[in-house]
Amino acid sequence: MIGKCICGQVQFKLKGKTPNLYQCHCKLCRKQGGSASNTATIVDLTSFSWISSEDKITYYKKDSGFSSNFCSSCGSPVPNKLRDSDYQWIPAGLLDGDDKLLIVAHIYTDSKADWAEIPVSGMHYKTMPDLEEFLEVLQSGTD
Ligand SMILES: [Zn+2]
Ligand SMILES: [Zn+2]
Repeated sequence: MIGKCICGQVQFKLKGKTPNLYQCHCKLCRKQGGSASNTATIVDLTSFSWISSEDKITYYKKDSGFSSNFCSSCGSPVPNKLRDSDYQWIPAGLLDGDDKLLIVAHIYTDSKADWAEIPVSGMHYKTMPDLEEFLEVLQSGTD
């Protein structure tokens, strides 16, 4: 599956089956995406590759380690490596392709905006679940 930012300069490729999606309702993701939550998936670094314009990426990093990476031409959020891991965070809206993906989990549900409604379907986690367990949840139901 291929992913691109709005202007199309930053492009990347995911090899193999794309894991299912989750929404993060934390305050940082709300600000980064400008909406109630962001929708993303997480892939192993070995199945991720940049196609073009990795050098167009700018980032803003908080002291906590949270990093907002974006295309310096169009402002789209772009993939970034999950801190201290071998995994890459992928913003779902960038993906072009017809793999059938589902939102299977909601995280940081305790931090959601007062005006946001979280669907009842899928797994709900009040904060960040254990990463290994979470990756299994994202893999489930992809075939
Ligand atoms: Zn762009
Ligand atoms: Zn978040």
